[in-house]
Amino acid sequence: MPIQQKTKALSHFINGTKMEGTSGCFSAVYNPSTGEIIAQVPLASKEEVRLAIQLAKTAFPAWKKTSIGKRIEVLHRFRQLLVARQDELIQVICEESGKTFEDAKGEIIRGIESVDMAIGAPQLLKGEYSVNVGGDINAFSAKAPLGVVATIAPFNFPVMVPLAISSMAIAVGNAVILKPSERVPHSALLLSEFWKEAGLPDGIWTVINGDKEAVNELLENKEIQAISFVGSTPVAEYIYHTGTKHNKRVAAFGGGKNFMIVMPDANLEQTANAFLGAAYGAASQRCMAISGAIVVGKDTEERLTKVLKEKIVNLKIGCYKDPTIDFGPVISQQAKDLIIQYIDGAVAEGANLVIDGRNPSICETSKGFYLGPTLINHVTPDMQIFKEEVFGPARIILGVETLQEAIDLINNHELGNGVTMFTRSGRAARKFQEEIEVGMVGINVPIPIPVGYHNFGGWKRSKFGEGHMFGPDQARFFTKAKTISERWPDEAENTTSSFAFPSNSDTTLH
Ligand code: NAD
Repeated sequence: MPIQQKTKALSHFINGTKMEGTSGCFSAVYNPSTGEIIAQVPLASKEEVRLAIQLAKTAFPAWKKTSIGKRIEVLHRFRQLLVARQDELIQVICEESGKTFEDAKGEIIRGIESVDMAIGAPQLLKGEYSVNVGGDINAFSAKAPLGVVATIAPFNFPVMVPLAISSMAIAVGNAVILKPSERVPHSALLLSEFWKEAGLPDGIWTVINGDKEAVNELLENKEIQAISFVGSTPVAEYIYHTGTKHNKRVAAFGGGKNFMIVMPDANLEQTANAFLGAAYGAASQRCMAISGAIVVGKDTEERLTKVLKEKIVNLKIGCYKDPTIDFGPVISQQAKDLIIQYIDGAVAEGANLVIDGRNPSICETSKGFYLGPTLINHVTPDMQIFKEEVFGPARIILGVETLQEAIDLINNHELGNGVTMFTRSGRAARKFQEEIEVGMVGINVPIPIPVGYHNFGGWKRSKFGEGHMFGPDQARFFTKAKTISERWPDEAENTTSSFAFPSNSDTTLH
């Protein structure tokens, strides 16, 4: 749907230069803190995506042949630029996503962790070598880049996710096409400037802006070898099925419903403080945000609810320019309306609103997409607000009688991204970490997001396909193995033909 252009039109970044969109279709980009439109982002047509893929394909062979040492030099320079120009990045992230400065900075630091991991690619690319596996043959395996690969990112980490899904792909020798979220396109374009300045050859990093049409071309185009997707579960599932149908390697990371189990012996002050930041930080727009507490024991539930209530009323929401705020707006009016629907639905289904953030006072003076922190208790597992990911500051409390009941509730949930538990009991913690069916597990850790050198990924419908973000598994995902057997016979050697299947044994089986 073409939108009238009243504000600046952004571009794509193709073959090392900014390229204007030619489709005639644009989507409005908002500053969620003010509700104003700040730019129009072009939505690429299939033809534009095909051109970008073709140029990336042309650039790939030379990058593949570039020594790993030279490739890593580029990553080093890119990392230096991320540090030197972090203020620009922070400004852009805050303006287009509504995050606080501190949160944006944290995202950059975590993004740099994945660049650091990619700088270590030479270690991960080392193959295996066996001498004289039989008949003087040496066998070795080497890892080769795949070619042109696509990465598709969500709105909620405009810098960290593109870095996390693209840096290793570049380091191991691929040409990457990033399709950022059309809601936060400025950050990816700024990263493009950094890659260019760092000396990455044209065509190895491409940003194609767009929506479903651009994504579908990436999914179907035979030149795309692999897809790393991060976003909501329904889209992740679609990406996985469509991409694999077109014979691509796909890792698609989806949404989360991440619970905090609170045991009766937990230090409630520490637990409540951990809950606040993990549950409401970034307006709860994190795939690893704590969605709710599952509290063991009636008394614990009552005490925790009381402590949380006292703390939540003091949380401050507002624009990122105010350094005293705890969190900002949600990404769009549409997102805000959807979160309100979840709250209304929970109340209609019989839950109790402990704190209602549907009409925060800031909305009297600002058109930003603000929602106050909302806390809902008396939630039951059959309610929609328990079953689905709510990507905004409406958090829930469920009471259970035993740890087993808490574990069963989580294991029966269709999502399995993150989970955490607060307790003083090592015994309970051990049972929890052994029995829980979730990909990323915390014990007295509010958000158990792995550091860059550990693999990141959920279970169940939080991830489709085999592959991880961050961590050593990324190098495997973005390469293919070649196994070579070589022998250098003596010229004078007498040879005969053998029609038996090659083996390293005489004819007797032992
Ligand atoms: P989204 O699924 O709406 O969009 C993600 C990407 O897919 C965007 O680039 C978008 O343009 C594209 N897209 C959207 N609809 C599409 C469609 N029908 N067909 C093809 N492409 C489509 O997600 P979002 O709202 O941008 O991000 C929030 C979601 O991402 C949440 O569910 C969150 O949990 C999830 N997320 C997951 C992780 C993780 O690591 N598992 C990390 C961050 C965010």
